[in-house]
Amino acid sequence: MGFDSFIGNTAAAQTVREMLRTDRLPGAMLFTGAEGVGKKTLALMLAQAAVCERFEDDFCGKCARCRRAAEMIAAAEEDLARRRDLKESARRVEGLVYFDLQLIAPITRYVLSEQIRVLRQVAYTRPFELPRRFFIIDQAQDIHWQAVDLLLKVMEEPPETTTFILVCPNAGELRSTIRSRCQRVAFSPVDEDLILRLLRERRNVPEPKQQLMARLSHGSVGRALGFDLPACLARRDVWLEFFHSLSGGIGPRARTPDWQQFFDSTRKLTGDRDGFDDVLTTGTELLRDMLLLLESGDSASVSHLDIVPRLKTWAAALGFQGILTLKEGLDEAHRLQIRNVNQQLGLDSLAIGLASAAHAGRSRTGGP
Ligand SMILES: [Zn+2]
Repeated sequence: MGFDSFIGNTAAAQTVREMLRTDRLPGAMLFTGAEGVGKKTLALMLAQAAVCERFEDDFCGKCARCRRAAEMIAAAEEDLARRRDLKESARRVEGLVYFDLQLIAPITRYVLSEQIRVLRQVAYTRPFELPRRFFIIDQAQDIHWQAVDLLLKVMEEPPETTTFILVCPNAGELRSTIRSRCQRVAFSPVDEDLILRLLRERRNVPEPKQQLMARLSHGSVGRALGFDLPACLARRDVWLEFFHSLSGGIGPRARTPDWQQFFDSTRKLTGDRDGFDDVLTTGTELLRDMLLLLESGDSASVSHLDIVPRLKTWAAALGFQGILTLKEGLDEAHRLQIRNVNQQLGLDSLAIGLASAAHAGRSRTGGP
């Protein structure tokens, strides 16, 4: 229990504890940093510590207020999950009730106007059970644009007994008028050693896989704890088929690409609709690794550290231009996906273009 159980980002934890100790808790705060580095966790811990009966700058988890705070958090999480599951959109915001410690997060793709309207109603009333109100808005970058003005109005006339904590990856995604009213606490990726230790303690993963999992978590505790390694490796296998068949057709020792294997792999990649985001992430990671190996030969910092020799071979075959072209193709696919355009990787045409360009190059130089 208490801040001692918080993993990584000790500076951020020190900052909020100092605020509690000196009784200088701001009316509005902004927690920024990558996904899974502990922003929401620390926000909830801060709120709990601010109301704990026993400690000034920590929480015991046992006193009546700590227990009540924990119940409020659990109830809010449950309520959000239930609302997200509702089919009828009108019912998703029906009968919203806010506790003194309230977690607010997107119900649909957005935090909806009604959620902020209720927040505004409640923010100026005295807290019912706890000495202070806390509104923690997770994924604050997804507050619906129609609701942002409403939130801004509340923040312009800050209620005395309420603290807002906005949580989001990039401060740049928030409107500057909101940003400027918040005291910012920045979070960094968590050290790999710390994540490795956590994996050893909490996950039953065979030793050789631990290092890979820690690396692929990219400093995110949340990602490490929920990491589905078999699923990730299955996704990666399809990419490996893709690169294998593609790199056979280009580069100095080119042979005819195995088109059958090649089209099989692109079909599998584009066919994984539910996991398409993860497919793109894995592909981008692999290309980044190849660039790194080609540029510096530094295999210590690659993500997929268990397949370095293969990555080196493909990197040499594809060359800088080939890797960059593929990476641009994936970036474009990612942009299309965000805009909800039909998921089309266009990998086939991209790769055929690469293979034929390489073939033309060899013909010109009199190669085979
Ligand atoms: Zn307590």
